[in-house]
Amino acid sequence: MRRTQVLVAGGGPVGLAAAVELGRRGVECLVVEPRATVSHARPRCKTVNVRTMEHLRRWGLADRLRDRAPLPRGFSTDVVFCTSLVGRELSRFTGVLGLAAQGGRFPEVGQQAPQYVLEELLREVVLGLDTVTVALGSRVSGLVQDADGVTVRLDDAESVRADHVLGCDGPRSAVRGLVGADYVGEHALRPNFGMVFRAPGLAERVPHGPAVQYWTVNPQAPALLGPLDPAAGTWWVITFGVDRATGERDGAALIDAAVGSPTDAEVLSTDPWTARMQLVDRARVGRVFLAGDAAHLNPPFGGHGLNTGIGDAVDLGWKLAAVLQGWGGPGLLDSYEAERRPVQDRVVKAASENMRTLSGDLVADDLEADTPAGDAARRLAHQRIQDMKSAEFHALDLVLDVGVAGSPVVADGAGDRLPHAWLPDGRSLYDVLGAGFTLLTPPGFASGSLVDAFARRGVPLATAPLPSGDEALLVRPDQHVAWRGGHPPADPLSLVERVTG
Ligand SMILES: Cc1cc2nc3c(=O)[nH]c(=O)nc-3n(C[C@H](O)[C@H](O)[C@H](O)COP(=O)(O)OP(=O)(O)OC[C@H]3O[C@@H](n4cnc5c(N)ncnc54)[C@H](O)[C@@H]3O)c2cc1C
Repeated sequence: MRRTQVLVAGGGPVGLAAAVELGRRGVECLVVEPRATVSHARPRCKTVNVRTMEHLRRWGLADRLRDRAPLPRGFSTDVVFCTSLVGRELSRFTGVLGLAAQGGRFPEVGQQAPQYVLEELLREVVLGLDTVTVALGSRVSGLVQDADGVTVRLDDAESVRADHVLGCDGPRSAVRGLVGADYVGEHALRPNFGMVFRAPGLAERVPHGPAVQYWTVNPQAPALLGPLDPAAGTWWVITFGVDRATGERDGAALIDAAVGSPTDAEVLSTDPWTARMQLVDRARVGRVFLAGDAAHLNPPFGGHGLNTGIGDAVDLGWKLAAVLQGWGGPGLLDSYEAERRPVQDRVVKAASENMRTLSGDLVADDLEADTPAGDAARRLAHQRIQDMKSAEFHALDLVLDVGVAGSPVVADGAGDRLPHAWLPDGRSLYDVLGAGFTLLTPPGFASGSLVDAFARRGVPLATAPLPSGDEALLVRPDQHVAWRGGHPPADPLSLVERVTG
């Protein structure tokens, strides 16, 4: 029987990210993915957030993603609310979605890129890793686990034996069903209808200037749209409250209504969807772990689903590598749910809150009127939009405050993401971290006993100086602080044991 260390079910963005994290750490993986090629029909995620960009930077891929993104870095950091794409502006947010730098808070700004661009990049990277094999055109259909491993059936034929399985196979996850886990939570009632359309020259007709999102507030087509690929003249649009049948029948008319003028748009693809707010009842069953959409679903407002899944993949990736390489203990695998569930839960709640006010909820009389009543209506709309939508576009605390405080594998008082800083020589503090743990020490810190303890347990540890401060920071492979202190701990070995589970 074919053997692998980790079988990754699903080569979507989350499965591929897990394979990058594992494969770069020398873990042998098999990624099983039914789709031979990445489709461009459903761009879905456009917001690759700051935290995902930090991981891409760690993998050496941040610039490669930016080079391929149809919207260049710096294209715009604005979201505009307007009565229609060519109509009156109601309100505007700038510096949205982590697209603008904030001093040294993070080393990479976010990037707008269609999901398929990220997936194609990750596919290419995974195919280039010696440790990873990709079985395209294949799917997981069965799974049985015992004390020593998991036997996975592919396409009801071939079987593969793996030490661990990652179920990254999306909302309809076969793996989730096979281990008896289930989503818990709610479905929204309102349908939404997404489209990609081509309308060359449309961007030049927009009086509001470039923006990454335009929310159109009118009763005919309350919608959200944005440029997909300016060179190709393509756009994405979500029309709210539109079911599949209506969308397929009236797509072009809905686009014209959102634009506020005839466009002669060519609809290239359609994507009907309904928001879901769900978390699995268990994300781990023995040697099988669920990650990404297979484990949690949230409304897309704020752009969190894929990004949260990448966070899952990173968390599982380094921990499984540590266990398979002999320096991580069982507690590390137990910590996956303990650390990720609170993050996933926060994201589901925040995204649900973002969904409470959509374009249709902002429609009011007189928004386009050239009268004092129109001015008053627009002032009121502006205020409502600022009050109701600001949190959606300025959510860096949610994105970056991915702390794992309270985790069983960090010391008391630790768990935050390492605060980022630019070093005096211009490098990012993140770029000096090792692949394993890193001990960052301020001047005069006697690190000998800690370094010895890591060496005695065979746990990879890099050291680097901190230019300022009076505390040393022990940083995990995922850039979280596992311990901090002005002096080495009294019992360094027990610290090493705690942080390696
Ligand atoms: C309109 C919309 C906009 C969105 N915008 C954003 C955004 O801006 N930011 C963001 O972060 N997220 C966004 N999302 C969410 C994002 O699209 C998902 O969270 C993301 O695709 C999840 O990735 P995944 O790899 O977990 O799952 P998927 O992308 O669903 O991938 C799962 C993979 O598993 C494969 N598979 C299925 N069955 C099997 C099987 N039996 N065996 C093996 N493989 C299998 C599938 O072929 C697929 O490739 C948006 C979603 C929607 C609907």
